[in-house]
Amino acid sequence: GALVELSDVSKFYGNIRALEGISLQVRPGEITCVLGDNGAGKSTLIKIISGLHQHDGGSFRIQGEETRLASPREALDRGIATVYQDLAVVPLMPVWRNFFLGSEPTTGRGPLRRLDVAHMRRTTHSELLRMGIDLRDVDQPIGTLSGGERQSVAIARAVHFGAKVLVLDEPTAALGVKQSGVVLKYVAAARDAGLGVVLITHNPHHAYLVGDRFVLLKRGAMAGSYEKAELELEE
Ligand code: ADP
Ligand code: ADP
Repeated sequence: GALVELSDVSKFYGNIRALEGISLQVRPGEITCVLGDNGAGKSTLIKIISGLHQHDGGSFRIQGEETRLASPREALDRGIATVYQDLAVVPLMPVWRNFFLGSEPTTGRGPLRRLDVAHMRRTTHSELLRMGIDLRDVDQPIGTLSGGERQSVAIARAVHFGAKVLVLDEPTAALGVKQSGVVLKYVAAARDAGLGVVLITHNPHHAYLVGDRFVLLKRGAMAGSYEKAELELEE
């Protein structure tokens, strides 16, 4: 079954219609691409799936269960991890520290112990390596990584912490050709690890390279919905 399913979803800001009649499915081991120009409703859709906004009409199911997410924290608890374009990382902190940011126990402990630090360093390095990211120095400040590398670390982090659904907000928008290719490779790795991926993009070429399903938005409405096979050229 679908990890996430939207049926006939609508969202209004006052009387501005941001979304109406939106339906899509996110399945494990598949990449669902959402395409559309500025103002099409892509951000609004992400905000609903990631718990920042709630839909006004239609149905939003997570693993079959009708849902209204109250917060991004609840989305995360339900297995939905979102990687935003302006990544919430602390640039001066080491890569390993960013990898574990927000995952530490919040009660009953003092500063991180040396043992924990060694473990977190090792885990960060091996988890990145598992995704094919060979970062020699996990002690370097994350701010010294390229935009593509930072996106990649965020993707590896979501996979490591057990996300079922990975939502990516324009991960290649600010990147050049080579970096885009690298990030798309990691997006595919997350899919191959069994996650359901939502890839928001305005780049049809990037969508076509990795996508399994495609949802086209136009001024808040569905302009099309396809599976990969439907887009393949006939012999
Ligand atoms: P996209 O991400 O595809 O550019 P958005 O989801 O940001 O699209 O916007 C969809 C529509 O909703 C646009 O017409 C936009 O102006 C409007 N909109 C988005 N956010 C708000 C808001 N907070 N208040 C009012 N209108 C909004
Ligand atoms: P909800 O959490 O119920 O989804 P929203 O956070 O989307 O609510 O916003 C509630 C209302 O606040 C919206 O219906 C919209 O009219 C108004 N609103 C939110 N952001 C903006 C904005 N940037 N500009 C104008 N109106 C906004």
